[in-house]
Amino acid sequence: MRKPFIAGNWKMNTDGHSAVKLAESIVSGCSDLDSGSVDVAVCPPFVYLQQAGKALSSSRVALGAQDVYFEQKGAFTGEISAAMLKDIGCTYAICGHSERRHVIGETDELINKKVHAAISGGLLPILCVGELLEERKASKTAEVVTRQMKKGLAGLSKEKMSAVTIAYEPVWAIGTGLTATPEQAQDVHALIRNLLAEMFDRKIAGEIRIQYGGSVKPDNARELMQKEDVDGLLVGGASLKADDFVAIVKSSV
Ligand code: PEP
Repeated sequence: MRKPFIAGNWKMNTDGHSAVKLAESIVSGCSDLDSGSVDVAVCPPFVYLQQAGKALSSSRVALGAQDVYFEQKGAFTGEISAAMLKDIGCTYAICGHSERRHVIGETDELINKKVHAAISGGLLPILCVGELLEERKASKTAEVVTRQMKKGLAGLSKEKMSAVTIAYEPVWAIGTGLTATPEQAQDVHALIRNLLAEMFDRKIAGEIRIQYGGSVKPDNARELMQKEDVDGLLVGGASLKADDFVAIVKSSV
């Protein structure tokens, strides 16, 4: 049985004050949940990680970063290493979010280095994969997701792979209000699990959690989570409203 894992990606939103308030409200909303029932994390902007992290301390809500650089230290202006994120209390790091792939221009090769660096630095990476609308229309979803999975996870041992969560996020559903149907999500999640079995083994494929992301809201979370291979949710917009995010967490248990 895979434990549900719900993560909130705050993207480039909040300020110091509202980040702390949001973190506090999420902690309080999740306080009555049985600790073994679900894993919960929030990923504030880098500059508010410490402030938000303080508000999460001794709670069941973990801290995650929205990105991580692959080098350990040195002349990499503006970048943040896994060791730095670990040092300030991060547990997770998102790698290869579609906005980093398609707005910032990150490649599969760069993302693969980030996944390796996150694990070596003691973080748990959330590797995002997903197709663009034109790729779905051209029936290229499987091809794109297979490439992103193979390149993004290249060189990982089975042991290292156990630290990874996969997030399937169809790009056409992110921040657009369009959600994949539970059946569309399940089809790609099943493909991803089969790929994991092929690339690693059946045991690993059975253990790795695959989140769905793309306009998840309190009113569609439960039916997505009911699908066999949907083990969690990566939530953008709705994670900025504590009540909505907590309702999504609660509908997953
Ligand atoms: C995301 O940022 O990963 C995301 C899925 O955003 P949204 O929920 O707003 O579509």
